[in-house]
Amino acid sequence: MNYELADRVHKVLPSFTLQMVNRAAEMRSQGVNVINLSVGEPDFNTPDHIRRAAKEAMDNGFTKYTSGQGMLEFREAICNKLKQENGIEYMPDNILVSNGEKQSLYNVCQALFDADDKVVVFAPYWVSFPEFVRLSNAEPLIINTLSNKNYEPDFKDLALKDSSQIKGVIMNSPSNPTGGIWGEESIIRLLRLAKERDWVVISDECYERLVYDGHFISTEKLNRDHNIGASVITCISLSKTYSMTGWRIGYAAGPIPIIKAMSKIQGQSTSCANSIGQMAGIAALSGDQSCVIEMRDEFLKRRNMMVRLLNELPGVNCTMPGGAFYTFPDFSAYIDRTVNNEILKDTFSISEYILNNTQVATVPGDGFGAPGHIRFSYATSMEIIKKGIARVKMALSHII
Ligand code: GLU
Repeated sequence: MNYELADRVHKVLPSFTLQMVNRAAEMRSQGVNVINLSVGEPDFNTPDHIRRAAKEAMDNGFTKYTSGQGMLEFREAICNKLKQENGIEYMPDNILVSNGEKQSLYNVCQALFDADDKVVVFAPYWVSFPEFVRLSNAEPLIINTLSNKNYEPDFKDLALKDSSQIKGVIMNSPSNPTGGIWGEESIIRLLRLAKERDWVVISDECYERLVYDGHFISTEKLNRDHNIGASVITCISLSKTYSMTGWRIGYAAGPIPIIKAMSKIQGQSTSCANSIGQMAGIAALSGDQSCVIEMRDEFLKRRNMMVRLLNELPGVNCTMPGGAFYTFPDFSAYIDRTVNNEILKDTFSISEYILNNTQVATVPGDGFGAPGHIRFSYATSMEIIKKGIARVKMALSHII
């Protein structure tokens, strides 16, 4: 071997969500009947009018590079959406279109953070947040949330930490993996703290349209309504709202100097988001929104059923998530118990046991900084959910 991998490869953890997708796909290709309750990906096809716009884009030759920051027409459509739906006014220069919101989040960390910086990440967190921070050479500062208060931040935990090196904070409401939706008071409190201490607030709002209980409001809207003046970068995805995960289209909105810096970094990695996806994005944001409501209503039915079925499992406790499409039941009653002569020492081992013995893929909560919990996605049909949880029930009955 005459090469050595870079330190960052060793420093960064793999994406546990994508790892489970790969495991499930591999098992399926070997003919195993896998039930995939792991990935956060709607099972619906992308709505007709969006697919049609993409086909027309290809036929009309929109198959070339676009402006690195995103097509102007698309950025105008995004500004219009942010104004109408979120009550925030922006100009196209405030917007960066990326290959999925994930790239916007990665870019913003690259644009803002350096070695010796710390960035607040709330646990349970989406698996990629701490890794985006690590890939920018900064260090995630993990802060607990309160499970009995919709997973809002525990400000007491934050107060106990040395905050001198903190440069930013990443929030995500509705949350992946908990589905928790923060109340306005907590968001305002965080914004005030951020303003006072010069932290940039990165607000991942990819589940903004998947809200069943409670109320969603954009962080930047509260920042403006209350004249707080914090620096906020809002990151939004088309993947979840319009069932467009494979198109890889998302965007960021925020202060022009930060957007420009992110754009510069993106220009040296992927140039621009794909042109066909951007044309599809215009159709998604400007077209009929009834598809969004229909999908949301279906997710709501699935959520209610999944939570009921999970609570029927012995020793499992599942709270009702207010948004997104994940349940996050507590399986801690199974930790340190034995099955097939093996001790289940954490949720990695419980998820692995469930996958190997019943072919149901889930995501272990330890990967989200939440030991004892397991994430189940209900972005799949009622029938698959029922079958999957029946198999999990069977698997649990063998644990002693
Ligand atoms: N956000 C989704 C999930 O958590 C998609 C996979 C990923 O990129 O992590 O399942």
